[in-house]
Amino acid sequence: MVTDIKTLTREELTTQFAGWQQPAYRVDQLLEWLYARRAASWDEMTNLPKALRNSLRQNYSLHTHELVSKQGSADTTQKFLWKLADGSMVESVLIPANPALYGEASDRHTLCVSTQVGCAYGCKFCASGLDGWKRNLSASEIIEQVFSVERWHAKQPKAESTPKTSTRLVDNLVIMGMGEPLANYDNLLTGLRILNAPWGGGIGARKITISTSGLVPQIRRLAQEPLQFRLAISLHGATDAVRDRIMPVNRKYPLRELVAACEDYQSIKGRMITFEYILIAGVNDSIDQAKPLAALTKKLFAKVNLIPYNKVEGLPWERPDETAQDAFLAALEKEKAIATLRREKGHDIDAACGQLRLKTEKQMREAEAVAGN
Ligand code: SAH
Ligand code: SF4
Repeated sequence: MVTDIKTLTREELTTQFAGWQQPAYRVDQLLEWLYARRAASWDEMTNLPKALRNSLRQNYSLHTHELVSKQGSADTTQKFLWKLADGSMVESVLIPANPALYGEASDRHTLCVSTQVGCAYGCKFCASGLDGWKRNLSASEIIEQVFSVERWHAKQPKAESTPKTSTRLVDNLVIMGMGEPLANYDNLLTGLRILNAPWGGGIGARKITISTSGLVPQIRRLAQEPLQFRLAISLHGATDAVRDRIMPVNRKYPLRELVAACEDYQSIKGRMITFEYILIAGVNDSIDQAKPLAALTKKLFAKVNLIPYNKVEGLPWERPDETAQDAFLAALEKEKAIATLRREKGHDIDAACGQLRLKTEKQMREAEAVAGN
């Protein structure tokens, strides 16, 4: 497969351009086209000599994602389903500012990006893993989600766009889409370095949250990275009994090991960890789970994001009613744990990761079957 231009760092491009006897300033011109102007084709790069554009074209691809469908409107959560070069589909979700959650100003946007096609970890409640794992996304496929959304946004009539001083629409990134980010470690880190670089996406590392279901060796590896990404752990259970029931990864890395890795991460980075805790009726929402959860939270100086479960078609799990959700939050607060209850904005548009892809692929298969008959 041809390397995509957006997997190369500035240093790698500098070496490549030197090999082509191109002056160094051409690298910055190219980067400006790729990341500030979000060029979608080589032909747009009019200040690069034709011969250089041809060399680039012959040696690298410049892929953008094709929008298959979009759900949601400008002031709510919007979900994008992309088709990749090989026909695989992944999702990104654009979430308008939620000052209560992230403390940002109200013109801010968070983008949730995918890192794999499908997921191998098979958490019992999750749509992303239902059809298994297909492949890792490349670094450029990860970061192109940001640029494809921004390119789409720039084309919208003014009423749909928020006036902004910066050229960037996306201010915060959460790596919480389809896939287990830390199982695609190298591509993820290459992508995030490019998104973070001043010559690339220019998104501060502190504005990038990586979510993991609990891959202990990779959490330890991430702790050694110089960049200060935020870390979120999909905990969903405060005891091995509960986690074992819904997250197969817990059998490989049980809570004791996960907590030890988080403690080390915390002490090396000095950063607060977030626990994601989906509330699933009758599975992890009983008040007796609140005590061990609060204990873990305080031990790690973490905070808890409680997320009412989003129903997935074909799976038996349900979200607890609001009284039960509030009672769980109150029980955590009584134990002096820091917790927020996030009532999902995207509930109505299949916001839970992996659902839109699953539904669309099913509809496409059905349409093909009808066409074939
Ligand atoms: N694989 C990583 C990141 C992607 S999942 C991880 O598991 O952390 C992002 C978050 O969405 C995780 O916390 C996951 O548990 C949660 N999630 C998955 N299915 C969900 C559903 N149906 N309702 C609510 N949250 C869900
Ligand atoms: Fe994979 Fe995360 Fe879904 Fe678990 S919750 S199946 S790790 S995407």
